Amino acid sequence: MVVRRVFGGLALGGLLVFAWGSTTAERLPVAAPIVVTRSFIEHADTVRRNETLSELFARQGIGGNELIGVLDALDGLDPRRVQPRTVFEFTTPVGESHPEGIRVRVSRDAFAVAKLGPDGWRGAREEVTWTVQTLRIVGDIQSSLYETLDDLVPDTVLDRPGRAQLAWDLADGVYAWEIDFTRDIRPGDRFTVLFEHLTSSLGERRYGRVLAANVQTAGVEHTAYVLSDAEGRNAYYNADGMSLRRAFKMYPVQFRRISSNFNRGRMHPVLKTRRAHLGTDYAADQGTPIEATADGTVIRAGRWGGYGIMVGIRHVKDIETRYAHMSRLAPGIRAGVRVRQGDVIGFVGMTGLASGPHVHYEFLKNGRQLNPRGVDLGDGEPVPAARREEFAQALAAFDGLLGRPGPAVARTD
Ligand SMILES: [Zn+2]
Repeated sequence: MVVRRVFGGLALGGLLVFAWGSTTAERLPVAAPIVVTRSFIEHADTVRRNETLSELFARQGIGGNELIGVLDALDGLDPRRVQPRTVFEFTTPVGESHPEGIRVRVSRDAFAVAKLGPDGWRGAREEVTWTVQTLRIVGDIQSSLYETLDDLVPDTVLDRPGRAQLAWDLADGVYAWEIDFTRDIRPGDRFTVLFEHLTSSLGERRYGRVLAANVQTAGVEHTAYVLSDAEGRNAYYNADGMSLRRAFKMYPVQFRRISSNFNRGRMHPVLKTRRAHLGTDYAADQGTPIEATADGTVIRAGRWGGYGIMVGIRHVKDIETRYAHMSRLAPGIRAGVRVRQGDVIGFVGMTGLASGPHVHYEFLKNGRQLNPRGVDLGDGEPVPAARREEFAQALAAFDGLLGRPGPAVARTD
């Protein structure tokens, strides 16, 4: 697709102001007065399927050494990783055919820009600014957390992938060690979530991260407050300042549903005989990444009878986890390799004895399969001492936004 816009000989002196939404507090940069003496045509060209960048640039009359110069100037653009539908914008002086300016989005936060000057193509970056808002959702869970969020949150706030990401972040990023949203939740359980919502200077919207949450199930309140670590990763702590993270996560995959539970005597769907099902089956799309549920060492990786392509990981306390029916292993996964919790170890498939794509997940202690739901995985770590003050302040602010009563004040009278 090619979009053309023609700009006349603009003489800009002052400030061009766009009307933004009332919630954004954007400070617009003040443009220096410029007098434009030439007119330009701006148009866009889109990378087609199975097309190389040389082919796209050839349409614009750029090839050979000049193309090398252009790609060199477009800082942050990896020519080998350009996806179909990437849009390149070209600026060409009116009456000429050769572009003098090129712009391409290289990340959420920036465009790479190349401009033709007397000594060839020179690169620059153009930032995309994002304005952050905090939004709150309060609801009663109906059939599932995802369906409830899908009903409550309008498209104008979060699109469908954004809603799915928020639900998954709550289930996996925040509460993966604490609440099993497939089994612990009852209809009518109340939840409140505070999350960041971002709007770009181009009007794009996206979901950011969960800041705090409160889920009440079976009369128990599960609080969660974010505290980012030095590497910018989000860790969540409860109101007592204890980490929600445990040695083992509940799920190894972003699943659509649990297709079979741990059961010591069930009818096997392929073998049609009564056999114990010594694991949990998580149905997920073919190719979905499978993650290690805890730190450990890979002790088995490859084909193993009815498990198909599988990975076995040994953890502390004589615990082993197994992930079966993979379509393939993740690169570098083989016996002897150390993995961290959350590392991708393979991808969902249906190798071995499987009737559809899913992960068969087993949790073994001393070589015997257990239902991981019945295993006490201990307490999380407390907020680091040096950050307790910071956490207490954040907690007070988040509690106000969550509508939670503040901490009880001890009375001495
Ligand atoms: Zn299974």
